[in-house]
Amino acid sequence: MRIEEDIKLDYKDVLVIPKRSTLKSRRDVNLLRKFNFKNREKELEVIPVIAANMDGVGTMSMFKSLSPNHMMTALHKHYSLPELKKFFDSTPEEKLKYVFYTIGLNGEDFEKLEKLISILKKDTIQNISIDVANGYTEHFINFVKKVREKYPKKIIMAGNVVTPEMTEQLILSGADIVKIGIGPGSTCITRKIAGVGYPQLSAVIECGDAAHGMGGRICADGGCQVPGDITKAIGGGADFVMLGGMLAGHKESEQKIHKTKDGKFLHFYGSSSEDAMNKHHGGVGKYRANEGKAVKIPYLGKIEPTIQKILGGLRSACTYTGAANLKELPKRTTFIKVNRQLNDLFD
Ligand code: 5GP
Repeated sequence: MRIEEDIKLDYKDVLVIPKRSTLKSRRDVNLLRKFNFKNREKELEVIPVIAANMDGVGTMSMFKSLSPNHMMTALHKHYSLPELKKFFDSTPEEKLKYVFYTIGLNGEDFEKLEKLISILKKDTIQNISIDVANGYTEHFINFVKKVREKYPKKIIMAGNVVTPEMTEQLILSGADIVKIGIGPGSTCITRKIAGVGYPQLSAVIECGDAAHGMGGRICADGGCQVPGDITKAIGGGADFVMLGGMLAGHKESEQKIHKTKDGKFLHFYGSSSEDAMNKHHGGVGKYRANEGKAVKIPYLGKIEPTIQKILGGLRSACTYTGAANLKELPKRTTFIKVNRQLNDLFD
């Protein structure tokens, strides 16, 4: 047994210090960021915020609302082949860069992807996200290598991990973007059930450093509760940020809206919660405990005002720190640790 004595940080543990700025207005901030990937010929220009591949978040309706705002969507895994064929065949070419097709570690997902590509008019899938709860297994590394061999020209995002050596390993195995986060998600109970995890801001800072040293990218996945947390993730070195809970509860969730005397709400549940297991896998397997929970969230209507709040928050952060764009934000970020107990009082 060994103890790491350093205290690691979550988003709530810090604030970003304002810096002298030459920007005149928030309008001067450009949130579009250009990325080069060794496996993609064209550069990718997007606002690097991604809707998580969760039920209620990674939906085709979400894509329709996020893509005009240059934000990305990782589709959840539960659309049928005909639905996916229709979607990919009818999505305009210039919008395809905003979609991640998600697969897990099982053969079925991979077969479904191959089948889908074989029935599409053209192979219009540009980005693949390989998403597993635990990215630390040999099996996962070999799977990432296999997907890379099969698809040498697609952007591959893979995770989740929280440590530099595994970030490097995934990049060496063919990932362009490594997804960072074990335990921070709003519907995640891994930290409670398994006692495993890593404070998210420190994971982002440490893994980002490792990835960037090798020409790789990271996506901070989970734990953003307010727009300011996205600033902290990017300021800490995240190239992309994935959001679940912040985008849930909207019309675009494609979920049943419940009406009660107290108002409208819908259920938002973790991908490995009992609800998800019952819905998609016929129950929770006997050998495992579910590591996600369901929460009741108020229905918030259309996603557009939420998008504008997120983009407005980022523009504001850039103005406060004097960053003309998101690439400059980490260079201009100095965090100050704050008293967490005091911070919690304002929740
Ligand atoms: P949020 O933005 O809601 O805080 O976090 C979203 C992320 O939580 C997802 O992208 C995914 O990585 C993670 N997540 C989603 N469902 C579950 C779950 O059931 N269990 C765990 N451990 N993590 C989950």
